[in-house]
Amino acid sequence: MRFSKMLIPTMRESPSDAETVSHKLMMRAGYVRQFAAGLYVFLPLGWHVLNKINKILEEEMNSIGAQEISMPILHPADIWQKTGRWHEIKEEMFRLKDRTERDMCLGMTHEEVIAWLASKEIRSYRDLPQIWYQIQTKLRDEARPKSGVLRTREFTMKDSYSLDADEEALDKSYKLHADAYHRILRRCGLKFYQVMSDPGMMGGATAHEFMAPSPAGEDRIELCDECGYTANVEIASSVSPPTKEIEGEYEEVYTPGKKTIKEVSDFLNAELPHFIKSLLFIANEEPVLVLIRGDQRLHEKKLEKIIGLCRAASEEEVLSILGVEAGFIGPMKHRLRILSDNSLAHGTYIAGANRVDYHIKGIRPDIHFKAEWHDLHTVKEGDTCPECNSLIKIEKVIEVGNIFKLGTKYSVLLNAVFLDKSGSERPIVMGSYGIGPARIAAAAIEQNHDKDGIIWPKSIAPFDVEIIPLNVNDTATMEVAELLYRGLKDNNIGVLMDDRDERPGVKFKDADLIGIPLHIILGTHALKDDQIEIKKRRTKEIKKVPIKYAIKEIISAVYETE
Ligand code: ATP
Ligand code: MG
Repeated sequence: MRFSKMLIPTMRESPSDAETVSHKLMMRAGYVRQFAAGLYVFLPLGWHVLNKINKILEEEMNSIGAQEISMPILHPADIWQKTGRWHEIKEEMFRLKDRTERDMCLGMTHEEVIAWLASKEIRSYRDLPQIWYQIQTKLRDEARPKSGVLRTREFTMKDSYSLDADEEALDKSYKLHADAYHRILRRCGLKFYQVMSDPGMMGGATAHEFMAPSPAGEDRIELCDECGYTANVEIASSVSPPTKEIEGEYEEVYTPGKKTIKEVSDFLNAELPHFIKSLLFIANEEPVLVLIRGDQRLHEKKLEKIIGLCRAASEEEVLSILGVEAGFIGPMKHRLRILSDNSLAHGTYIAGANRVDYHIKGIRPDIHFKAEWHDLHTVKEGDTCPECNSLIKIEKVIEVGNIFKLGTKYSVLLNAVFLDKSGSERPIVMGSYGIGPARIAAAAIEQNHDKDGIIWPKSIAPFDVEIIPLNVNDTATMEVAELLYRGLKDNNIGVLMDDRDERPGVKFKDADLIGIPLHIILGTHALKDDQIEIKKRRTKEIKKVPIKYAIKEIISAVYETE
């Protein structure tokens, strides 16, 4: 393509609302334009990148025997009502009515449609296994559509679904997908981890996410370099370093007006891990007292897995249920369900005295209070691995893909059954697998850029090389430029030629911003010596090569580039 004919509206400044690097650079380099909140136009360069990623997705899906289909985006509500998700999913689902006032929604994901299709088309165990996939638009009214194309309200997803006769066969389909996702993300040039994750609204049992490490990520994962344990902090466990033993008897101390753990710890000159934080929750209209260590944060999702949906009690509820105001609650002498984080199982602690302006020192678990012991804390740096006890790391990551074992939830509810070898009817065992091309593109930029712009991994760059003739009014220069342009295209190399009549400085700046991996510079001086320059965008290394070998040299540079 010729730059002068292509819509590449580069900008010197990034828009003021752009926070992440990929958002800024995709805007500045002319890859996307924001149409409305969470809605983006992909300009030609951006579209090239998405198509390259989609091609990798198709190749890898086809290689595991998946069959491409296309399902509607508009769904009648009844199918979502049958699986319960019409009610379970809240504002994130776009809902509308058709002309007959029938409830409809826009597809956020396609488990329902797949189970419907399977209920019609799968009869016997001989029809299994199946893997069906599509690269299709999804619509979700995201709470915070921000960070450019990392989180939009309309996006394409490669979603695939496996249909199997039993759990063992599902394990195989799951493994095929996990391996395919490894190949996809490696081919796209991303650094990533496969981590254990929370099945969430999918409602299955096992799930993994594919996470690209980046400060722009909204997720955090726990990693153990020693044994390889990796999990999303939403489900990760860790061992908190044990609290140092402190001397002291069980005694009440006067702590006037000191309510927060920080205030009391300063006042008593004691460290945070020596405190018990007592928090009152209401689940199913019953009060539950939850205890965690002073240096920890409660993990509400872990709590909800044990007591179901719950909420923090109001100040009035705390007073009426516990008889003391929040800030002075302790775990002693209450007749209600008490759940405690495992890290409080040993040691001596300080907590509220259940009396205003007083705390108690020397509290020992099992002696001064009884509790059900659970993992309730949010993991943090300084904790150790639950498997091997080595120090863990916490990293910010972008979720680029995920895989779920769904089991039979959807097939039971939508009657997707098959006849097994003995002629009995059984529900199909399903898996669901999603990956987002736009997120992959943005994550690739987050991981591959410098102060001047994007540095695309070769496999997903919009073009392989950019030819930069520095003086388009010089006939000799343009002869060489055209020669290279045609020669490279004939060899199936993707070429962008900057044929604009612009100053060299402008062309170099734009080329660095756009981030094509190789720049072929045609300067009048070098051309006089029958030479051209091949510049690597990533390292800025320049190699001079004679014109007569230029095409061969450029092609080998393309193959060498990562
Ligand atoms: P998140 O937790 O980030 O909201 P999710 O768990 O909702 O993601 P899935 O429903 O499993 O994501 O979708 C599969 C993939 O689709 C994600 O891994 C991501 O690559 C992509 N994706 C999901 N939501 C969005 C979005 N709002 N914008 C762009 N891509 C998305
Ligand atoms: Mg989501």
